[in-house]
Amino acid sequence: MQGIPDTIKLFSFAKKELNFSHIYQVKDFPRIKKLLSNIDDEVKVELSFYIENNSIPCIEGVVKLSAVVDCQRCLNEMNLRLSPSFKLGFLKNEQQGKALDSSFEAILSTDEAFLTIEFITDEVLISIPMSPMHSHKCQSYQDKEQIKQEKHNPFAILKHTKLNIKNKE
Ligand SMILES: [Zn+2]
Repeated sequence: MQGIPDTIKLFSFAKKELNFSHIYQVKDFPRIKKLLSNIDDEVKVELSFYIENNSIPCIEGVVKLSAVVDCQRCLNEMNLRLSPSFKLGFLKNEQQGKALDSSFEAILSTDEAFLTIEFITDEVLISIPMSPMHSHKCQSYQDKEQIKQEKHNPFAILKHTKLNIKNKE
């Protein structure tokens, strides 16, 4: 295991069957940093490169991180444990994919080199839920707003008084 280079050289790494691991911080990933508030926390990455079927370069790996995001129900912070894992086969054409085991996610690409940070970012972003919410039943921020408004609305009190009078009649 060795640190991960800034640029992934797909064929060259795969031919050498290289394994890498590195501990980044959330702030090392500009696009992820914008979405999370725990930017100093660790992002553990492991990547393995190899050739499948004598011709298809593959990347297998896992990323582990905590993501502090806003709950979309109560708008308070919540902590998600993310561990996206992936097994990718890079194909030059669709024909090549027919020989690839179905456990691989096939990617059509002729790029020989790409930025490690961008590659990891894409895998992490897919794993963040579209509207994260607490697993417990937190109170919706919309309900909270409504209660606040009723308290400040003098007519809300009138309504209750009216009802009381009606009951007395
Ligand atoms: Zn919540």
